[in-house]
Amino acid sequence: MTASHTYVTTTIPYVNARPHLGFALELVQADVLARFRRARGDRVRFQTGTDDNSLKNVLAAEAAGVPIQEFVDRNAEAFVALREPLALAVDDVIRTSRDPRHRAGVERLWRACADAGDLYRKHYEGLYCVGCEQFYTPAELTGGRCPEHGVEPQRVAEENWFFRLSRYADRLHDLVSSGRLRIEPAERRNEVLGFIAGGLEDLSISRSTARARGWGIPVPGDPGQVVYVWWDALGNYVTALDYGTGGESYGRWWIGAGRRVHLVGKGVLRFHAVYWPAMLLSAAQPLPTDIVVHDYLTADGRKISKSGGVTADPVALAGEYGTDAVRWWLLREVPRVGDADFTVERLVARANDELANGLGNLVNRVVTMVHRYRDGHVPLIETGTDAGTGAPGGEGLEAACRRAPDLVRSALDDFEFRRASAPVWAVVDEANRYVDHVRPWELARAERDGVPGAAARLDAVLAGLVRACGTLADQLAPFLPGTAARIAEQCTAGDGGLPEPRPVFQRITAPEPGSVP
Ligand SMILES: [Zn+2]
Repeated sequence: MTASHTYVTTTIPYVNARPHLGFALELVQADVLARFRRARGDRVRFQTGTDDNSLKNVLAAEAAGVPIQEFVDRNAEAFVALREPLALAVDDVIRTSRDPRHRAGVERLWRACADAGDLYRKHYEGLYCVGCEQFYTPAELTGGRCPEHGVEPQRVAEENWFFRLSRYADRLHDLVSSGRLRIEPAERRNEVLGFIAGGLEDLSISRSTARARGWGIPVPGDPGQVVYVWWDALGNYVTALDYGTGGESYGRWWIGAGRRVHLVGKGVLRFHAVYWPAMLLSAAQPLPTDIVVHDYLTADGRKISKSGGVTADPVALAGEYGTDAVRWWLLREVPRVGDADFTVERLVARANDELANGLGNLVNRVVTMVHRYRDGHVPLIETGTDAGTGAPGGEGLEAACRRAPDLVRSALDDFEFRRASAPVWAVVDEANRYVDHVRPWELARAERDGVPGAAARLDAVLAGLVRACGTLADQLAPFLPGTAARIAEQCTAGDGGLPEPRPVFQRITAPEPGSVP
């Protein structure tokens, strides 16, 4: 029906502390996907939000001596405020404690699963990590401690609502193994299949209102219980589309969308690839089409976490080094599988080597030469004339430009962000190699000396280089919107020809040792 509609989401983080670079990674990946698909003509909705209704938030507010709603509002602001420093083209932000769409949707989802006969009450005792907001079996602990947080879980005994997750094991296995529910990369898909094969137990999906400190969404028809925060949070992907009221957005962006893509971190894989699809199966709703999993970042060799102290604040980094330097590091250096270590030195080196030297110098050289040798006017060469016309060595550049769009598309269709940046980079490399090889300044001298053919060769070289810069502006736009716009501006002729050369990316300076933001 609306196959060209794409719905892209990030997870919604707890707002118990300020946002860190690991979440910025997820936001930037989602943004690249959204921008890329929009540029190729898809209708795209890019959504993020905040998970307000967590006991973690309540405990952090208590520790800070601030009323919970005020605390949550203040921290949520910090997440919403990532948009500008990271240049995120976000369409919608849902806040689960504030947004009237959310509670209505969570209640509807609950009732749908209850109507399917999948909810029941039972007494339960288990080991609960508040950091994870989940129960662990003793076998899942590491030395008696939570594998994510390294703390001993609490023993909790109470009567809760349960969801018949066990009923969905076979269907989930089929969906994941057939790729109808696509999980990337393959390592994570196998992890999910292994988890399902290990047996799915029914899931506790409510808490006593007393233990939740009265914070959260009451269970429909049972005010002594609040909805488990994960159930509540997972619902955001549809509640923000007015699922609660059966709104038009839900029809367009969930039921009718060709792709429903969730970007998630590896630590919440089970929730997104098992619990959430099971909830949707129970409620007889379509599943996401793609779950794209990223690993973790470390900073200076230590785990980044909101609660662990090392935050690598994305806002401070963007303020200090610029939005595109941060985006570029996240896209160029973070591998598809395996954790990546962030240091400011690496960010600075990557930005200076590639964006200031490789890309910035190229565009600046090209625009400067068009001004110096052709008074700012890009020579008119028939399109289709390759950059190497009259100047051997341009074939590589021509080929890199021709190949880039398909290679970027196929990498992004596979959700491989680092691989997607490589063909764009090949254009920069080839263009710089070409300039060094054809030496336009020598062609200009030959032209002045009246060497036959030199003028036509220089025309072809300059036109080919400006075209290559145009390709770079197009192909870089999803990755580095600001830099791409500056390149496009530099390569777009007005009445008087190209604008005066201006840097598209300024060199940045590494900090003094030890002054990591
Ligand atoms: Zn934990």
